[in-house]
Amino acid sequence: MMNKPRLEGKVALITGGASGIGEAAARLFLEHGACVVIVDIQDDLAHQLIASCTDSGKICYCRCDVRDEKQVEAAVSHTVTKYGSIDILFSNAGIMGPMTTILDMNLDDFDNTMAINVRGVAATIKHAARAMVAAKTHGSIICTASVAASIGGAGPHAYTTSKHAMIGLMKTACNELGAHGIRVNCISPFGVATPLSCAAYNLEAGEVEANCCATGNLKGVVLKAKHVAEAALFLASDESVYVSGQNLGVDGGFTVVSHSYS
Ligand code: NAD
Repeated sequence: MMNKPRLEGKVALITGGASGIGEAAARLFLEHGACVVIVDIQDDLAHQLIASCTDSGKICYCRCDVRDEKQVEAAVSHTVTKYGSIDILFSNAGIMGPMTTILDMNLDDFDNTMAINVRGVAATIKHAARAMVAAKTHGSIICTASVAASIGGAGPHAYTTSKHAMIGLMKTACNELGAHGIRVNCISPFGVATPLSCAAYNLEAGEVEANCCATGNLKGVVLKAKHVAEAALFLASDESVYVSGQNLGVDGGFTVVSHSYS
């Protein structure tokens, strides 16, 4: 039996909500009483997700490419019109981009990674925060960073750069939005078998999980999208009412230990 719903009466917008971590968060937030707007560019996956939800009146899809500010603004506006407010922004959409090194990078690919992982997050924070400020909502903004936000070598260069930038974005937003009672945090997962990680490494889900188990610090646990969604749920809920400006690692300690002696 589930404990008391932790997001009853709240409205969440989740970017990248059609797949992987975003999908897990959409299901979990819905389970905990929230109304959920999925923002993504994968129409079929989003509609499949909604069709699989028993409470389909509390979840809807808004196609939006986060690179386009107008589309982001429209998605936030749609959320407020449909459900009355926006209390939670889970800015989670992201790509890893090509697995090139700095020696052979294509700068157009670099720009695209930055456009989705940084500009897209900035646009979602801007418009969600504007709606929260206008409605005097003490909202919670959560961005999905990565272990690549703290260390080099945990992803390709553009991805690593983008996730480091996201931490700066989060801290700045925390500083500016605290005056409005809005909290801003990041979560930083290690390795989860999702379409993003499987495609980046050209591996099946089971192979990604085996690799992560082999290289991760915490042995005997396989990190699933649901576990990352649980961290987002904590930051979205009133249980974290005074937590802001933090980057919560969901990495089994990977970024705080020395890998030299493993
Ligand atoms: P995923 O591919 O399953 O989900 C990402 C979603 O973002 C997809 O549904 C995709 O369509 C959407 N998206 C991509 N570009 C978009 C755009 N321009 N506009 C709107 N939506 C767009 O991958 P995931 O692993 O669930 O990734 C979610 C987040 O988690 C990403 O920010 C990723 O960097 C981060 N992350 C993932 C891992 C991991 O191991 N999977 C580890 C650390 C961080």
